Amino acid sequence: MNTSDLFNFLKPKNELENQGDAVDNRPYIPDELWVKCPVCKTPVLSADLNENYKVCPKCGYHFRIAARQRIEWTVDEGSFEEFDKEMISENIIDFPDYSRKLKNARLNSGENESVITGLAKIGGYPVVLAVMNSQFMMGSMGTVTGEKVTRAFEYATEHRLPVVVFTVSGGARMQEGILSLMQMAKTSGAVKLHSDAGLLYITVLTDPTTGGVTASFAMEGDIILSEPRALIGFAGPRVIEQTIRQKLPKDFQTAEFLLEKGFVDAVVPRAEMKETLAKILRLHSNKINTEEGEKDECI
Ligand SMILES: [Zn+2]
Repeated sequence: MNTSDLFNFLKPKNELENQGDAVDNRPYIPDELWVKCPVCKTPVLSADLNENYKVCPKCGYHFRIAARQRIEWTVDEGSFEEFDKEMISENIIDFPDYSRKLKNARLNSGENESVITGLAKIGGYPVVLAVMNSQFMMGSMGTVTGEKVTRAFEYATEHRLPVVVFTVSGGARMQEGILSLMQMAKTSGAVKLHSDAGLLYITVLTDPTTGGVTASFAMEGDIILSEPRALIGFAGPRVIEQTIRQKLPKDFQTAEFLLEKGFVDAVVPRAEMKETLAKILRLHSNKINTEEGEKDECI
Protein backbone atom coordinates (compact mmCIF):
# COMPACT_ATOMS: atom_id res chain seq x y z
CA MET A 1 0.00 0.00 0.00
CA ASN A 2 1.41 3.45 -0.81
CA THR A 3 0.94 6.52 1.37
CA SER A 4 -1.73 8.18 -0.82
CA ASP A 5 -3.98 5.09 -0.49
CA LEU A 6 -3.55 5.24 3.24
CA PHE A 7 -4.46 8.92 3.31
CA ASN A 8 -7.81 8.20 1.59
CA PHE A 9 -8.87 6.12 4.57
CA LEU A 10 -7.84 8.60 7.25
CA LYS A 11 -10.85 10.14 8.93
CA PRO A 12 -10.28 13.24 11.09
CA LYS A 13 -11.78 12.89 14.56
CA ASN A 14 -12.21 16.61 15.16
CA GLU A 15 -11.64 19.96 13.52
CA LEU A 16 -8.22 20.47 15.05
CA GLU A 17 -6.99 17.27 13.54
CA ASN A 18 -8.22 18.45 10.19
CA GLN A 19 -5.97 21.49 10.23
CA GLY A 20 -2.53 21.63 8.72
CA ASP A 21 -0.80 19.00 6.70
CA ALA A 22 -2.56 15.66 7.29
CA VAL A 23 -0.21 13.62 5.08
CA ASP A 24 1.05 10.49 6.79
CA ASN A 25 4.73 11.13 7.43
CA ARG A 26 5.48 7.68 8.80
CA PRO A 27 8.29 6.07 6.83
CA TYR A 28 7.13 3.46 4.33
CA ILE A 29 8.77 0.11 5.04
CA PRO A 30 8.51 -2.61 2.38
CA ASP A 31 7.29 -6.00 3.66
CA GLU A 32 10.39 -7.89 2.52
CA LEU A 33 12.51 -5.92 5.00
CA TRP A 34 10.73 -7.66 7.86
CA VAL A 35 10.33 -11.31 8.74
CA LYS A 36 7.90 -12.51 11.36
CA CYS A 37 9.13 -15.31 13.59
CA PRO A 38 6.68 -18.23 13.14
CA VAL A 39 7.06 -19.23 16.80
CA CYS A 40 7.00 -16.04 18.91
CA LYS A 41 5.52 -13.82 16.14
CA THR A 42 8.12 -11.09 16.74
CA PRO A 43 8.85 -9.03 13.62
CA VAL A 44 12.59 -8.99 12.96
CA LEU A 45 14.47 -6.91 10.40
CA SER A 46 15.77 -9.26 7.66
CA ALA A 47 19.23 -7.69 7.91
CA ASP A 48 19.32 -8.31 11.69
CA LEU A 49 18.14 -11.88 11.17
CA ASN A 50 20.95 -12.55 8.69
CA GLU A 51 23.48 -11.05 11.12
CA ASN A 52 22.18 -13.50 13.72
CA TYR A 53 22.60 -16.65 11.51
CA LYS A 54 18.86 -16.57 10.77
CA VAL A 55 18.00 -17.29 14.39
CA CYS A 56 15.17 -15.34 16.06
CA PRO A 57 16.84 -13.00 18.61
CA LYS A 58 13.85 -13.30 20.92
CA CYS A 59 12.98 -17.02 21.10
CA GLY A 60 15.94 -18.72 19.39
CA TYR A 61 13.90 -20.24 16.57
CA HIS A 62 16.25 -21.44 13.81
CA PHE A 63 14.83 -20.46 10.41
CA ARG A 64 15.49 -22.92 7.58
CA ILE A 65 18.40 -21.80 5.43
CA ALA A 66 19.68 -22.63 1.95
CA ALA A 67 22.57 -25.07 1.63
CA ARG A 68 24.91 -22.45 0.11
CA GLN A 69 24.27 -20.12 3.05
CA ARG A 70 25.05 -22.93 5.46
CA ILE A 71 28.30 -23.71 3.67
CA GLU A 72 29.27 -20.03 3.85
CA TRP A 73 28.63 -19.94 7.60
CA THR A 74 30.37 -23.25 8.29
CA VAL A 75 33.56 -23.52 6.27
CA ASP A 76 36.71 -21.41 6.15
CA GLU A 77 36.33 -18.64 3.61
CA GLY A 78 37.25 -19.65 0.08
CA SER A 79 38.02 -23.26 1.06
CA PHE A 80 35.02 -25.01 -0.55
CA GLU A 81 35.62 -27.05 -3.73
CA GLU A 82 32.41 -28.58 -5.02
CA PHE A 83 32.09 -32.18 -6.29
CA ASP A 84 29.72 -33.35 -9.05
CA LYS A 85 28.09 -29.96 -9.51
CA GLU A 86 26.66 -30.80 -12.93
CA MET A 87 25.08 -34.13 -11.96
CA ILE A 88 21.31 -33.90 -12.44
CA SER A 89 18.29 -36.17 -11.89
CA GLU A 90 16.13 -37.51 -14.68
CA ASN A 91 12.65 -38.98 -14.69
CA ILE A 92 13.96 -42.54 -14.71
CA ILE A 93 10.69 -44.39 -14.09
CA ASP A 94 8.62 -41.93 -16.11
CA PHE A 95 6.68 -40.81 -13.04
CA PRO A 96 3.84 -38.42 -13.90
CA ASP A 97 4.73 -34.74 -13.50
CA TYR A 98 8.20 -35.47 -12.07
CA SER A 99 10.07 -33.81 -14.96
CA ARG A 100 8.18 -30.56 -14.38
CA LYS A 101 8.74 -30.74 -10.62
CA LEU A 102 12.47 -31.26 -11.13
CA LYS A 103 12.62 -28.28 -13.45
CA ASN A 104 10.79 -26.09 -10.93
CA ALA A 105 12.99 -27.30 -8.09
CA ARG A 106 16.09 -26.33 -10.09
CA LEU A 107 14.64 -22.92 -10.88
CA ASN A 108 13.42 -22.19 -7.35
CA SER A 109 16.51 -23.37 -5.51
CA GLY A 110 19.14 -22.42 -8.08
CA GLU A 111 20.68 -25.86 -7.45
CA ASN A 112 20.85 -29.06 -9.49
CA GLU A 113 20.01 -31.44 -6.65
CA SER A 114 18.95 -31.73 -3.02
CA VAL A 115 22.53 -32.07 -1.78
CA ILE A 116 25.77 -30.16 -2.32
CA THR A 117 29.01 -32.04 -1.71
CA GLY A 118 32.62 -31.02 -1.76
CA LEU A 119 35.94 -30.56 -0.06
CA ALA A 120 36.35 -27.82 2.54
CA LYS A 121 38.24 -26.69 5.61
CA ILE A 122 36.64 -26.05 8.99
CA GLY A 123 38.88 -24.28 11.49
CA GLY A 124 41.83 -25.20 9.27
CA TYR A 125 40.96 -28.92 9.20
CA PRO A 126 40.19 -30.51 5.82
CA VAL A 127 36.84 -32.33 5.60
CA VAL A 128 34.52 -33.76 3.00
CA LEU A 129 31.24 -31.93 3.35
CA ALA A 130 27.68 -32.78 2.25
CA VAL A 131 24.92 -30.27 2.85
CA MET A 132 21.32 -31.08 2.02
CA ASN A 133 18.94 -28.42 0.75
CA SER A 134 15.30 -28.14 1.86
CA GLN A 135 14.65 -25.75 -1.04
CA PHE A 136 15.06 -28.60 -3.55
CA MET A 137 12.00 -30.88 -3.28
CA MET A 138 12.18 -30.68 0.53
CA GLY A 139 15.60 -32.32 0.51
CA SER A 140 14.17 -35.61 -0.73
CA MET A 141 16.69 -38.33 -1.56
CA GLY A 142 16.71 -39.41 -5.19
CA THR A 143 19.32 -41.45 -7.04
CA VAL A 144 21.54 -38.43 -7.67
CA THR A 145 21.35 -37.38 -4.00
CA GLY A 146 22.40 -40.89 -2.97
CA GLU A 147 25.13 -41.04 -5.62
CA LYS A 148 26.61 -37.69 -4.58
CA VAL A 149 26.64 -38.64 -0.88
CA THR A 150 28.17 -42.04 -1.73
CA ARG A 151 30.88 -40.47 -3.88
CA ALA A 152 31.65 -37.98 -1.12
CA PHE A 153 32.23 -40.84 1.35
CA GLU A 154 34.31 -42.77 -1.18
CA TYR A 155 36.50 -39.72 -1.75
CA ALA A 156 36.90 -39.27 2.02
CA THR A 157 37.82 -42.95 2.51
CA GLU A 158 40.36 -42.82 -0.30
CA HIS A 159 41.96 -39.61 0.99
CA ARG A 160 41.58 -40.50 4.70
CA LEU A 161 39.43 -37.48 5.54
CA PRO A 162 36.60 -36.95 8.04
CA VAL A 163 33.08 -36.36 6.72
CA VAL A 164 30.59 -33.74 7.94
CA VAL A 165 27.00 -34.06 6.70
CA PHE A 166 24.19 -31.57 7.34
CA THR A 167 20.86 -33.30 6.84
CA VAL A 168 17.45 -31.89 6.00
CA SER A 169 15.00 -34.14 4.23
CA GLY A 170 11.41 -35.22 3.80
CA GLY A 171 12.73 -38.73 3.08
CA ALA A 172 13.16 -40.90 0.00
CA ARG A 173 11.92 -39.33 -3.26
CA MET A 174 8.71 -41.16 -4.11
CA GLN A 175 8.90 -40.11 -7.78
CA GLU A 176 11.88 -42.46 -8.20
CA GLY A 177 10.18 -45.46 -6.57
CA ILE A 178 12.36 -48.31 -5.37
CA LEU A 179 15.46 -46.67 -6.85
CA SER A 180 15.25 -43.92 -4.22
CA LEU A 181 14.92 -46.50 -1.43
CA MET A 182 18.04 -48.25 -2.75
CA GLN A 183 20.01 -45.10 -1.93
CA MET A 184 19.59 -45.90 1.76
CA ALA A 185 21.58 -49.12 1.34
CA LYS A 186 24.08 -47.57 -1.06
CA THR A 187 24.92 -44.60 1.17
CA SER A 188 25.04 -46.84 4.28
CA GLY A 189 27.52 -49.13 2.51
CA ALA A 190 29.78 -46.16 1.77
CA VAL A 191 29.49 -44.95 5.39
CA LYS A 192 30.48 -48.44 6.63
CA LEU A 193 33.61 -48.57 4.45
CA HIS A 194 34.58 -45.10 5.69
CA SER A 195 34.02 -46.25 9.27
CA ASP A 196 35.99 -49.48 8.75
CA ALA A 197 38.91 -47.34 7.63
CA GLY A 198 38.85 -45.78 11.11
CA LEU A 199 37.70 -42.37 9.91
CA LEU A 200 35.46 -39.83 11.63
CA TYR A 201 31.91 -39.07 10.50
CA ILE A 202 29.90 -36.21 12.05
CA THR A 203 26.25 -35.61 11.22
CA VAL A 204 24.37 -32.41 11.94
CA LEU A 205 20.60 -32.93 11.91
CA THR A 206 18.59 -29.88 10.94
CA ASP A 207 14.87 -29.23 10.70
CA PRO A 208 13.34 -31.50 9.44
CA THR A 209 15.27 -34.76 9.04
CA THR A 210 12.85 -37.59 8.35
CA GLY A 211 12.13 -40.81 6.46
CA GLY A 212 14.79 -42.61 4.42
CA VAL A 213 17.54 -40.11 5.28
CA THR A 214 16.96 -40.62 9.03
CA ALA A 215 16.87 -44.37 8.42
CA SER A 216 20.26 -44.27 6.67
CA PHE A 217 23.24 -41.89 6.77
CA ALA A 218 21.69 -39.24 9.10
CA MET A 219 21.79 -41.59 12.08
CA GLU A 220 25.05 -43.34 11.21
CA GLY A 221 27.43 -40.61 12.37
CA ASP A 222 30.09 -41.35 15.00
CA ILE A 223 29.01 -38.05 16.52
CA ILE A 224 25.47 -36.79 15.95
CA LEU A 225 24.78 -33.10 16.51
CA SER A 226 21.51 -31.29 15.97
CA GLU A 227 20.25 -27.75 15.66
CA PRO A 228 17.84 -26.73 18.45
CA ARG A 229 14.19 -27.82 18.12
CA ALA A 230 14.80 -29.66 14.84
CA LEU A 231 12.15 -32.23 13.95
CA ILE A 232 13.84 -35.60 13.64
CA GLY A 233 11.97 -38.81 12.97
CA PHE A 234 11.17 -41.59 10.57
CA ALA A 235 7.38 -41.72 10.24
CA GLY A 236 5.10 -38.86 11.29
CA PRO A 237 3.60 -38.86 14.82
CA ARG A 238 0.05 -39.63 13.61
CA VAL A 239 1.16 -42.80 11.81
CA ILE A 240 3.06 -43.95 14.90
CA GLU A 241 0.12 -43.30 17.23
CA GLN A 242 -2.20 -45.28 14.99
CA THR A 243 0.29 -48.15 14.77
CA ILE A 244 1.22 -48.51 18.45
CA ARG A 245 -2.19 -47.28 19.70
CA GLN A 246 -0.60 -45.05 22.31
CA LYS A 247 -0.45 -41.31 22.85
CA LEU A 248 3.03 -39.96 22.14
CA PRO A 249 4.87 -37.79 24.68
CA LYS A 250 5.10 -34.02 24.28
CA ASP A 251 8.14 -32.84 22.27
CA PHE A 252 8.38 -36.30 20.69
CA GLN A 253 10.72 -36.19 17.65
CA THR A 254 12.44 -32.96 18.66
CA ALA A 255 16.23 -32.67 18.89
CA GLU A 256 15.96 -32.09 22.67
CA PHE A 257 13.85 -35.25 23.16
CA LEU A 258 16.34 -37.32 21.16
CA LEU A 259 19.23 -35.83 23.16
CA GLU A 260 17.53 -36.95 26.38
CA LYS A 261 17.04 -40.47 24.96
CA GLY A 262 20.64 -40.73 23.71
CA PHE A 263 20.04 -40.62 19.96
CA VAL A 264 21.68 -37.19 19.63
CA ASP A 265 25.03 -36.35 21.27
CA ALA A 266 24.61 -32.57 21.50
CA VAL A 267 22.19 -29.83 20.51
CA VAL A 268 24.28 -26.98 19.13
CA PRO A 269 22.96 -23.50 18.24
CA ARG A 270 23.80 -22.42 14.70
CA ALA A 271 26.04 -19.57 15.86
CA GLU A 272 28.28 -22.10 17.67
CA MET A 273 28.25 -24.79 14.98
CA LYS A 274 31.47 -23.94 13.15
CA GLU A 275 33.43 -23.62 16.36
CA THR A 276 31.98 -26.90 17.70
CA LEU A 277 32.81 -28.80 14.50
CA ALA A 278 36.33 -27.35 14.49
CA LYS A 279 36.81 -28.47 18.09
CA ILE A 280 35.62 -32.03 17.36
CA LEU A 281 37.86 -32.21 14.28
CA ARG A 282 40.81 -30.98 16.32
CA LEU A 283 40.19 -33.54 19.06
CA HIS A 284 40.14 -36.34 16.49
CA SER A 285 43.04 -35.20 14.40
CA ASN A 286 46.42 -36.86 14.56
CA LYS A 287 48.27 -33.59 14.56
CA ILE A 288 50.44 -32.90 17.58
CA ASN A 289 50.69 -29.21 16.80
CA THR A 290 48.55 -26.99 14.63
CA GLU A 291 50.05 -24.64 12.10
CA GLU A 292 49.90 -21.84 14.67
CA GLY A 293 51.90 -23.97 17.07
CA GLU A 294 49.05 -24.60 19.52
CA LYS A 295 49.05 -27.89 21.29
CA ASP A 296 46.08 -30.18 20.66
CA GLU A 297 44.14 -31.54 23.59
CA CYS A 298 44.78 -35.14 24.55
CA ILE A 299 41.92 -37.61 24.47
ZN1 LIG B 1 10.90 -16.04 17.74
